[in-house]
Amino acid sequence: MKKAVGIDIGGTYIKAGLTDENGNVLKKCQFPTMAEKGSREVVLKQIEKGIEFALEGLKEKPAGIGIGTPGVVDNEGTVFEAPNIPGWHNLSLKKVFSEKYNLPVVVENDVNSITWGEFLYGAGKGYNTIICITLGTGVGGGIVKDGKLLRGSKYSALEIGHIPIDYKGPQCKCGNYGCIERFVGRDYIVERAVKAINEGKKTLIYQLVEGKLEEITPKVISQAYKKGDKLATDIWIDVGICLGALFSGLVNLLNPELIVIGGGISQNVEIMFETIEKTIKERAMKILAENIKVVPSGLGVDAGIVSAGALLFQKY
Ligand SMILES: [Zn+2]
Repeated sequence: MKKAVGIDIGGTYIKAGLTDENGNVLKKCQFPTMAEKGSREVVLKQIEKGIEFALEGLKEKPAGIGIGTPGVVDNEGTVFEAPNIPGWHNLSLKKVFSEKYNLPVVVENDVNSITWGEFLYGAGKGYNTIICITLGTGVGGGIVKDGKLLRGSKYSALEIGHIPIDYKGPQCKCGNYGCIERFVGRDYIVERAVKAINEGKKTLIYQLVEGKLEEITPKVISQAYKKGDKLATDIWIDVGICLGALFSGLVNLLNPELIVIGGGISQNVEIMFETIEKTIKERAMKILAENIKVVPSGLGVDAGIVSAGALLFQKY
């Protein structure tokens, strides 16, 4: 069975592994990205460590090296710009690593890569058109349309975090107003809880952080929700309505069969998934919304590695 090296570059860690054609991770490791050093050479060295770990002891020639990276990546494997990694601009990762290891190298934006991974091996397996989003500090997204990854003229289709849902809404760091990220980004989910507590709302969230409001995270809000807390439940319902409003537009635009939500923040928050689905059914065109499903990521913690390896196995 064919094997590939999968590299998942994050702002904090570089995760690396050896994957196979069925989407299994055969071995894996992680190294700090060291983006704070401000040097592209340092980060490239960390990636090298990951590739060498994955190749070590491998008898046959692998299909190649797949790399998922933040930022805008063109068809030639050049990263134009990655906001979290200084020095990461106009950098041909494909050239650097194909010359060094004499192997095929495919480089893709990290969320596009994960969308492709979900389509091949995860929650999107067996579907034709899916939307995949990752919820975190920012909100990222990717689309597979009729079995092909949709990239757009600047390789950046579905900058979902900056699609506005409220033209009179609060200003976003991108300059626009009412972007979805301004409502469901990590900090803004937390902001809802802090505001309600400051207004005197009683909630388990307050007890879980022992009164230290700065320690509230989406995970804490999920814990409170699991215990039946009213405020926590209301917050996830509101997040679900915001996402549902956004998706009703995307459903009308693209007619997907499935929406996959990854990113760790919300994996066990059933009420959010239910609310998103309900909101889409209420708001999108009936015929398009009828059979839509909204599900959590199917790839789990190794999503980045599996997906990067998947870039080698099937043409997208
Ligand atoms: Zn924005």
